[in-house]
Amino acid sequence: MIPQLDLLAGWLQEHLVVPALFALGLMPWEDIAFGWTLFAVYGLVQVAATYAVCLPLEKWRPVERWPDAKRVGVDVLYTLIARIGLLPLLTFVVFYRVQVMVTGMLADHGFVSPMLERLVPALLGHPVATFFCYVVILDFAEYWRHRLSHRFDWWYALHALHHAQRQMTFWSDDRNHLLDDLMGFTWFMVIGVLIGIPPMQFPLLVLLLRFLESLSHANARVSFGWLGERALVSPRFHRAHHGTTAAGRVSINYGAVLPWWDMLFGTADFSADFVATGDPAAPEALASGGYLRQQWTGLRGMAREIARPRA
Ligand SMILES: [Zn+2]
Ligand SMILES: [Zn+2]
Repeated sequence: MIPQLDLLAGWLQEHLVVPALFALGLMPWEDIAFGWTLFAVYGLVQVAATYAVCLPLEKWRPVERWPDAKRVGVDVLYTLIARIGLLPLLTFVVFYRVQVMVTGMLADHGFVSPMLERLVPALLGHPVATFFCYVVILDFAEYWRHRLSHRFDWWYALHALHHAQRQMTFWSDDRNHLLDDLMGFTWFMVIGVLIGIPPMQFPLLVLLLRFLESLSHANARVSFGWLGERALVSPRFHRAHHGTTAAGRVSINYGAVLPWWDMLFGTADFSADFVATGDPAAPEALASGGYLRQQWTGLRGMAREIARPRA
């Protein structure tokens, strides 16, 4: 991977993480901690890269200007927790362990572990094409996960946290309920294991996809032109998904990175032009509460929907 970042992770591990583990009597966790540190460094670089690309775009052509952007603060916190804390742990440490476990279990029963190149032999020896196929497959899985999260009341009670924003910026991508994130990751991990994504590539794939998803939330009057909009999800396309009239159970433009699935399954709308965003029906606490209050409100909303008697 990138030698300078690997060196930085090694330095952090040696000077910060290992002494802390030692002091806490947690040395058996050294291996796990190193995987986490390594990808936390990559996560941090990704946040910096996202900032370097998106901030100038938001300054150049903002869709909205706010007298104060204080609601963005909680979204920044979501981003740091997700990209530096949660995603490195889940996409590298957990994914690696699950894949080793599944491969071992299959081998014990005389099976080979699933691999995309075994299903499509033409991909053998073409790592770039294989990487692109992983992107397409993961994005297809993400389209359906996202669409289902709007389909079920209990699930939307969690996902409403993402839609309740009133100041949508590139930070808003990670504004998700923890439980929603964990379910999303589990789904991604199942797909990743089923198509045999190598453990070092999986976190990099997630980093790439999430970078593009951040861009699609930017408060920027940016569209990719007729063809570009149909090739890649643009800020304009995803903004329509967050529109006040589209928010809620029935929405449009569910695609995360590729708009192809929306076009294929009849949920694409390329006509909306930088609409106002937010979910007017969402509880106020999801819009303006702090991190913990939003998490608690999402959880309570989900419990209420599960307990609600059906007609
Ligand atoms: Zn949504
Ligand atoms: Zn979004």
